[in-house]
Amino acid sequence: MQLCCHGLILKGHGYVCNEGFIYFAGSKERVRVIFDDALIEQTHDIIDSLRQLQEPDAVIPEPLINSAKCPRCSLVTICMPDEIAFFKKENQPPRTIVPRCEDTFPLYVQEPGTFIKKNGGILEIRKDKEKLGEARLEEISQVSLFGPVGISTPTVHELIRRGVSVNYHSTGGWFVGRTDGPWHKNVELRTFQYKKSFDPACCLALARKFVRAKIANCRTLLRRNSNDKADDSVLFSLEQYKTKAEKATSLETLLGIEGGAAAAYFSRFRDMLCGENFRFDFSGRNRRPPKDPVNTMLSFAYAMLTREWVNTLTSVGFDPYRGFFHQPRFGRPALALDMMESFRPLVADSVVITAINNREIKPDDFQQTPLGCHFSGAGKKKFIKTFERRLAHEITHPIFGYKISYRRVFEVQARLLARFLAGEIDYYPDFTTR
Ligand code: SF4
Repeated sequence: MQLCCHGLILKGHGYVCNEGFIYFAGSKERVRVIFDDALIEQTHDIIDSLRQLQEPDAVIPEPLINSAKCPRCSLVTICMPDEIAFFKKENQPPRTIVPRCEDTFPLYVQEPGTFIKKNGGILEIRKDKEKLGEARLEEISQVSLFGPVGISTPTVHELIRRGVSVNYHSTGGWFVGRTDGPWHKNVELRTFQYKKSFDPACCLALARKFVRAKIANCRTLLRRNSNDKADDSVLFSLEQYKTKAEKATSLETLLGIEGGAAAAYFSRFRDMLCGENFRFDFSGRNRRPPKDPVNTMLSFAYAMLTREWVNTLTSVGFDPYRGFFHQPRFGRPALALDMMESFRPLVADSVVITAINNREIKPDDFQQTPLGCHFSGAGKKKFIKTFERRLAHEITHPIFGYKISYRRVFEVQARLLARFLAGEIDYYPDFTTR
């Protein structure tokens, strides 16, 4: 029918076109397609039905089930037909997902006083008259600027045109905001999101999932990495908090459970660090500003994770500022904070542990001032590298069984949440590792 459409366009322009050919490169076969009345009628019917889909009250068709077309479809990573069918119990576990081509990379610029501008297809990073670095525009997935770093308006325009977001962080790493193109066109999704966010039962059901998954993942991280395997009292208490979270009857109760679990978890966080010669000590969470290197790393990692989730949710079509567990507050990306709960231990805390235990970060990568503890320029650079490595790290998906990077897991989770809010699947599957 696609070929027939081409034929009809040619006919419409006065050409004689009664047949076409499809060439199958794999089998080197040429197949003739005659544009007879039956095919033309079928093609017109399809065009009409596609037009109807543009009507405001049209329902988007459900993904195909177990179709041979899907694995090679360009929409498979958005449509996720096997994953949706899996949750509807209509299919076997999903076939290996066709990975999204990850041949673009994030660009971080943190040197104070630098300025970024476009020169042809290249982004140049300059300070005074000296060129500090450059990056090819087509290889950039996102741009993150830390502190007083400038960027020219034509460069921002070009990045927006290419669908590349520009993220702004404070010098200390706090996520300030982002510049992006116009809103995602999927307004339907935001309508579902807003409607459900005013439904207390739905908010509580989702909040239970977020908190339960976070506690479960904290427990797993502690179980795997603790140097003191003999003392499992905190593991036991985290298990209890997890059970309580599953049964919580209000968001306020959940907040209390989350706070209690966090206190228990961070009381044993030091056990996961083996920095005998590195003087990395940790006696509990403190922030705004963090007072010691471990808290500096944790706060920075959470800020980067927030930014990743804001980007992921926006790219899928959500409003990152309207959440279910975290309540709306001016400037707070509540949905990003909701969705990142289960990934705090798996990504952010894990990066801190890796950076210390692999000795990628050392105490002289920090500066202590009366206002708190800060990364040095070199320290921040090393930490960002470790963080990006974690996002690109491939794991076996605990439900679907295929290999997938954490960055892609974020997108899959966001799309599953969208399907849940649209009523296509019965529950939102949270993400926990074993
Ligand atoms: S992936 Fe989705 S859009 Fe593509 S063929 Fe399958 S069901 Fe259709």
